[in-house]
Amino acid sequence: MALDLVLLGPPGSGKGTQAAGLTDKYRIPQIATGDILRAQVEAGTPQGQRVRSYLDRGELVPDQLVVDIIRHRLSEPDTEAGFILDGFPRTVTQAQALDAMLAELQRPLDAVLYLQVDRQSLLDRLGQRHRQDDRPEIADHRIDVFLDQTAPLIGYYPELVAAAIDDIIRPLVGAGGGPNTRPTAS
Ligand code: ADP
Repeated sequence: MALDLVLLGPPGSGKGTQAAGLTDKYRIPQIATGDILRAQVEAGTPQGQRVRSYLDRGELVPDQLVVDIIRHRLSEPDTEAGFILDGFPRTVTQAQALDAMLAELQRPLDAVLYLQVDRQSLLDRLGQRHRQDDRPEIADHRIDVFLDQTAPLIGYYPELVAAAIDDIIRPLVGAGGGPNTRPTAS
């Protein structure tokens, strides 16, 4: 049976780390739009240069661009057993496009996991990374963009599972953590 998951959370909430853990455990691919977009920037194509201008400012790239990326990625055979969407959808428009795609494929989402972390912890965590868009003023702006454009998805997915902050943060900071440190799907 396929396991189709969405990980929703602000920048620095640990989506990538949690998705990697789920990939190992359930053998389903992690699909991180941020990674795919950064690869396009690296490729240095005209499209990559256009993408870069959004990433550098901490703005979302246009919906159509990421929706096309996801449509293409979900058509690849390794997604048959399931997938973890990490960083998509990020707007209501993207969520509606995802619903339409999944309806066509006749595979509804199994769970939407929301990683909830307070702003100061996010800034602290982003401050420890070294990505170009993790500079304090851009990081701060990305959190605002999350609150404006992505947080409304919390209402869009009424059956979303909110993972406890502690359960997420404890293993990340390496303060021990028990067996029950992953976000749990319903
Ligand atoms: P973070 O969650 O820390 O912001 P990501 O790697 O998920 O890191 O995203 C980095 C950047 O990539 C975002 O600031 C945005 O510019 C772009 N991006 C990623 N996913 C999307 C998306 N679904 N829609 C629009 N832009 C996106």
